[in-house]
Amino acid sequence: MRIAIGQLWQETNTFNPLPTTRRDFEDFGVVRGQEVIARFHDTNELGGFIQSLRGWREQPEIVGLVRLPAWPSGRATPETFAWLREELVAALQRAMPVDAVLLALHGAMVAEEHPDVEGEVLSAVREVIGPTTPLVATLDLHANVTTRMIRETDSLVLYHTAPHIDVFETGQRAAAVLRRIFVEGARPTTAFAKIPAVVPAERANTEDPNSISHRHKRSLLELERHPHILAAGLATVQPWLDIPELGTAVVVVTDGQREESIVACSDLANAFWASRLEYQPKLTPVAEAVGRALANQDGLTVISDPADATTSGATGDSTWLLAELLRHDWPRPALVTLVSPEVVAAAALAGVGGEFSGPVGGVRDHRFSQPLSLTARVERLFGARFVLSGHLARNLPIDMGRSAVLRHGNVRIVVTARSGPHFAPQLFEAAGLDPFTAQVLIAKSPCGFRAAYASRAKEILVAAAPGCAPSDFANYPYTQIDRPLWPWDQFDAWRPEPVVFEH
Ligand SMILES: [Zn+2]
Repeated sequence: MRIAIGQLWQETNTFNPLPTTRRDFEDFGVVRGQEVIARFHDTNELGGFIQSLRGWREQPEIVGLVRLPAWPSGRATPETFAWLREELVAALQRAMPVDAVLLALHGAMVAEEHPDVEGEVLSAVREVIGPTTPLVATLDLHANVTTRMIRETDSLVLYHTAPHIDVFETGQRAAAVLRRIFVEGARPTTAFAKIPAVVPAERANTEDPNSISHRHKRSLLELERHPHILAAGLATVQPWLDIPELGTAVVVVTDGQREESIVACSDLANAFWASRLEYQPKLTPVAEAVGRALANQDGLTVISDPADATTSGATGDSTWLLAELLRHDWPRPALVTLVSPEVVAAAALAGVGGEFSGPVGGVRDHRFSQPLSLTARVERLFGARFVLSGHLARNLPIDMGRSAVLRHGNVRIVVTARSGPHFAPQLFEAAGLDPFTAQVLIAKSPCGFRAAYASRAKEILVAAAPGCAPSDFANYPYTQIDRPLWPWDQFDAWRPEPVVFEH
């Protein structure tokens, strides 16, 4: 029994003007063959796959294909897309014959000329393994699930949480679903409903017992406890994708229970549709948010800058919050991050203790914010390397390259050469700063940062600023989306019409 596993992971933001290239994947860490198993047996979905498969009494041989991850950013170039597909297909061809395939995907990756990257990759995989070999894939809760993804797989298994704290467990659930199909003979019957609505990410906190997302998560978990149901998922999609077929989706996979799939799928879709207004976030103007942080003499104030969230694929070099922080004298440290290889290079040239003077920010994206002129002391040069656990990750190695801390008064700007989790406490710690004793910390994350800060911050605010990942996305120009789509179009009457796929 040979089971092949692999990963293609990137979330695309089509408002980010920077293309995603092969280099971005190589910088993050492309790993091939059995090294995937040796290095990632306790990391994210791959770790979940591996540890579950090792527990099967049939003792399957686990065949590593390839791990292809890149940090969220703009569309992949056509060459990058062709290379990714070829990497996966060639690895699979070398591994053949295999009896089943488990893939860890994101589900919201877009390439120029290819709005549904995962759908195309799944088609290519299906072509190699044929129609009867089981293929199960995992997806992020922010995936844009398409009919093609459903058609090509025996089952899709989605994260249930945002912040994404069940990444490893989703890998385990996918392996369990594969076992039901492959070993126990379950016949996957998928009901799939696309909902013509897209909601902001800020309040989609499944871990807040008072949130609507928490209620939806409970429904999914209840469904998955039912013996007929293999998997149930609600993909609320990420909104910064100007592509056809954009929308929220419900996926319910049963063991041959057509009616049951349809009913469960319709119920979930109706519940989501009825709740869509509850996702509207409460935003605070930038100056007011920073003013509140300044007034909070003790404790930590975390201000989320969702529009520049690097976890949402924004560029991470917006200057809206930075400019406001620099206007004030802070009794205690004010922490903010920036992605800028140029500023890091200039800081390295000046050296620790030297003076940096020049423009910062507003370069990677110059439509939504402008560069600032800054004079600051180079406080530290360091490599932004650490292991991320919490939102998005279990034991995930991160390397954002050469980095620097610039100091202006008590404002510390953590500047990294590459994008990454610009909310993570581990990033500030790698920079020699204590995120939890700061006066204010800017988290470039719409919701996931709460996993690290909710229990330790005195106050959490979400700032309203322009950027590549805004929560008022419907006010930005979209030309490719299918209409009508809420909230671009305001309408109330809608009924789910689930489509059923039987394997
Ligand atoms: Zn996500």
